[in-house]
Amino acid sequence: MREALCCPTCRADLTDTPSSLRCSTCSAEYPVRGGKIYFIEVPDATDELDIVKYRLKKILGKAYYALGITVFAPTFPFNYRAAVLRFSDPEKQLVIDIGAGNHRIDPQIVTIDLFDYAATDIVCDLSNLPFRDESVDAFISRSVLEHVPGLTQICKNLARATRENGLAAHLIPFMFPFHASPHDYQRLTHVGAATLFPGFELLEQRNATGPFTLLTLLLTEVLAVIFSLGNERLKAFLYLIFCLVFFPIKFLDFPFVGRRSMLGIAPSIFTVTRKTRNLEVV
Ligand SMILES: [Zn+2]
Repeated sequence: MREALCCPTCRADLTDTPSSLRCSTCSAEYPVRGGKIYFIEVPDATDELDIVKYRLKKILGKAYYALGITVFAPTFPFNYRAAVLRFSDPEKQLVIDIGAGNHRIDPQIVTIDLFDYAATDIVCDLSNLPFRDESVDAFISRSVLEHVPGLTQICKNLARATRENGLAAHLIPFMFPFHASPHDYQRLTHVGAATLFPGFELLEQRNATGPFTLLTLLLTEVLAVIFSLGNERLKAFLYLIFCLVFFPIKFLDFPFVGRRSMLGIAPSIFTVTRKTRNLEVV
């Protein structure tokens, strides 16, 4: 992974010092602490639900994902790891999970995030990636790209850093309520997700959940909004309560997961595209 890194500001080589990586051209210095590289200062979380989630992720670690996401969250569990490993081999390839949070799906996959979680390898800003041109085999993400401002520019940047025949495998929400983490900017239809990366061709696309996830999401969100009477903190609390009440409904999705015919009402769509050509240098 070290060979793929460059200065995010000027893309020049980085020199190793005992406690940092230093840019050979612009002299920017990026601290290395506990094997982790910090290309940016870590920002504070601001949204109420996001603060709760951030604390839960920190406190519960793996249990947050095992219990929180798989069982109680209002979406049918999506096996992100299996989906990614069908297309890439992190043993032999440089696979980078962007916005991975505090969850490493595979020991060989490099994790990057805006926040400094225990499971984060590189703390950096997606709009300013510290990777060389054509240096990465696959960029992957789960429910992250809706949270980035300037998506077009970020995708050009990810495309730039991807090798020819390299992959983009991203789970992106479509029919999903607003959720700040720390911000929420966009949704993509299956057509939008298939054409997100310039010079990439579509390999596979599927509805990660199904119609009952859509119902569970709407029930949880709509009732939390109605009964919180505009109080954000109360809404975050009620949201968690309604998750506990309604989560079993999502499991009715079992026979519907992955149906192409349901892409039009998909809460989240998993799209795999492959880089076929370089369109432009960012
Ligand atoms: Zn530099």
